[in-house]
Amino acid sequence: MNAPDLDYEALFLGSPAGTIVTDGEGTIVAVNDGFLLWTGWQREALVGTPFRALLPIGDRILFSTRTAAQLDLSGQVPYTVMTIFGPDRQPIAAAMMASRVKTDPPLSMFTMGQRRQQSAEQTQLISAVRHAEAAIVRSKEAEQGLEQLARHDSLTGLLNRDGFLADLTDLVSASGPNDDLAVCQLGLDHFRAINESLGTGAGDVILRTAADRLRHLHPDALMARVGEDSFAVAVPRASQGPGFEDDLLASVAEPLTVEGLEIVITASLGVDVLDAPTVSGGESPTWPSEQAGSLLRNAGTAMYNAKSAGRNRWRRFTTNGASSAIDEIRLLGEIRAGIAKREFRLDYQPQLNLATGRPLGVEALIRWDHPHHGTIAPGRFIDIAERSGLISHLGAWVCETAIAHCAHLNEDPTHGPFTMSVNVSARQFSDSDFAGSVAAMLRIQKLDPALLTVELTETALITDTEQALTTVRALKELGVRLSIDDFGTGHAGFAYLRDFPIDEIKIDRSYIAQLDVTAEDTAIVVSCIELAHAVGIVVVAEGVETAEQLARLTDLGCDYVQGFYYARPLNEGMLETWLSSHRAGG
Ligand code: C2E
Ligand code: CA
Ligand code: CA
Repeated sequence: MNAPDLDYEALFLGSPAGTIVTDGEGTIVAVNDGFLLWTGWQREALVGTPFRALLPIGDRILFSTRTAAQLDLSGQVPYTVMTIFGPDRQPIAAAMMASRVKTDPPLSMFTMGQRRQQSAEQTQLISAVRHAEAAIVRSKEAEQGLEQLARHDSLTGLLNRDGFLADLTDLVSASGPNDDLAVCQLGLDHFRAINESLGTGAGDVILRTAADRLRHLHPDALMARVGEDSFAVAVPRASQGPGFEDDLLASVAEPLTVEGLEIVITASLGVDVLDAPTVSGGESPTWPSEQAGSLLRNAGTAMYNAKSAGRNRWRRFTTNGASSAIDEIRLLGEIRAGIAKREFRLDYQPQLNLATGRPLGVEALIRWDHPHHGTIAPGRFIDIAERSGLISHLGAWVCETAIAHCAHLNEDPTHGPFTMSVNVSARQFSDSDFAGSVAAMLRIQKLDPALLTVELTETALITDTEQALTTVRALKELGVRLSIDDFGTGHAGFAYLRDFPIDEIKIDRSYIAQLDVTAEDTAIVVSCIELAHAVGIVVVAEGVETAEQLARLTDLGCDYVQGFYYARPLNEGMLETWLSSHRAGG
């Protein structure tokens, strides 16, 4: 009956589950053979080092803000997915659980194992199987009636576009004088990027969840999946309470969990309304089927406008004003002409180096001096320029102008080197000759590449990873600095940052605005700074508007700040004046 004296050490070492033990500081004090065997690490290389060093930067942030906090609070961390580095810095997909052991002093135990990650072959295989399954489902459905099949979307069970239009036509013909009918088209924001970063399995979960939530909100409404990532809902007057558009958006934007990660997917919504027919006695000008088609089309146009306006919002279809598709085409023509007529210019917003208390450099921000509409901010035209491809042209002009101006600002040898940050959009980043043209511009202006910082967003990295990576490498080779703009707002799995040799992150101004307002945002800012520094990444805080924020960021060891508190974006002339007073004053 008596258990033999168990050799716990041998049991620990020999356990097939990879296990790491850390002390209260997070330093690794023991590693078992299971872990070494699985990852290829040598024990000497790990013991005495911080556990967090095994994680890519993004996962470290998650680790500090969530995992470690949870461990402190409850002593347990249930199944979490993360990436760890192997000895050659190869990423290894891991699933992990952790618990705090009540030894004296207390230790933490992290048990982990391989997480299934799909190889290209597996993905192909899965998609082949899925096709086969779909084919079987299809032939089954064929038995039950081809009609049903032709009208439904197999993933969500909702109607498809044809089915929706057919039923909408019936609704339109049956609608009476008091039946205003609103047709909404709702598109998930950044769905393609999410699909690429998390995999199609995750994409399917997201689509099904969105469909379920919409169905739950309007159980009796006519509803369909009408595109890869878009849904249509016909909302009868009775359900059009105040803010029904906001309710639709809010239901989709509830957090959901995919592969152990909690994510939020927002949507953009367009609405068109079928007004109650006027009782004129005359014949209706269009057939119900045409009306149904135009309702859906107009809702689509309005959705497109909601996306242009920054996503996560809704727009009503209008035939006038700056929001119609026709206006977008006109705007494109005006942008093209504006480039030729030199209506664009750059403003420069100074950045402060907190360590020296002196200006470090500027960020170039584009402005459009429109002959009729005055100065137009980039938010109004960058998206359109990007979608149409015009951004390559406009972006090249921005780079050229900013590089030339930076060379000019550095002509005065009595002042230290002065940097220039330039915003580069995703589309430009996937241009194969982008890095080459930047190299030529630097050469022509004889500008030290280290004075140029290219700011890109996480989206730029995930939309075209292959080409983006090639461009990143080429820029890196040139000696240009790379910065991730709006850090913390992207959908890129944190894992993406690991693949890119970045020099700087710019913490998004939404976090800075909430610094010391909410505990969560404060924790994110604190850990971003700490963790970025741990891997030699410089941190810029953007949107600093108050002396309190500045003081706090100084305390936290943030490197640079930018924001209205220090300086607004200034035109060339104002910048000269500003610089002469600030450089002289120190
Ligand atoms: P961004 O890169 O995040 O640029 C910072 C934006 O925040 C600027 O808006 C700036 O005026 C504003 N800002 C700076 N300090 C503060 C502050 O303290 N408080 C607040 N509330 N706002 C502050 P802007 O100039 O309207 O630019 C908007 C966005 O347009 C930029 O966001 C950038 O993504 C894009 N953009 C600007 N110029 C270019 C360009 O040349 N190329 C590309 N591709 N995008 C550009
Ligand atoms: Ca920027
Ligand atoms: Ca930014």
